[in-house]
Amino acid sequence: MNYTLTYDQYQQGLEQGKFLGLKCNSCNAVTFPPMAVCRECSGSDCGVTELKGEGTLKTFTVIRVAPEGRKPPYLVAIAELNEGPWVLGNLEDVVPDEADMSLIGKKVKLGSKLSPGDVYSKGDAQVITFTLV
Ligand SMILES: [Zn+2]
Repeated sequence: MNYTLTYDQYQQGLEQGKFLGLKCNSCNAVTFPPMAVCRECSGSDCGVTELKGEGTLKTFTVIRVAPEGRKPPYLVAIAELNEGPWVLGNLEDVVPDEADMSLIGKKVKLGSKLSPGDVYSKGDAQVITFTLV
């Protein structure tokens, strides 16, 4: 299968501060992070699009028992991007023990940071981060 946007290209984009996703030529839905097919219609006729990197916080959780290589506590959140997709990331600028429901609905800006690999992954990778606007 040919991928319009590979994982490595997506990772290189994040390193450069670009949020590369896919825009479906059939239904116009934006898929981010990129997948093999459109998240809405499963179509494969997609082109590369650069997202603005802005969204709205939908939910979060405090991680208190962390996987290898990560130091708890920290916040993992899901944001709805302005272009439509929901994306998982680390909420960076909130103290985990002070996080409460008032965060839901807040505007966030996307970034990325290098996360250490573990025995289950390909190695170090850029992961999505959120900061409050
Ligand atoms: Zn589609």
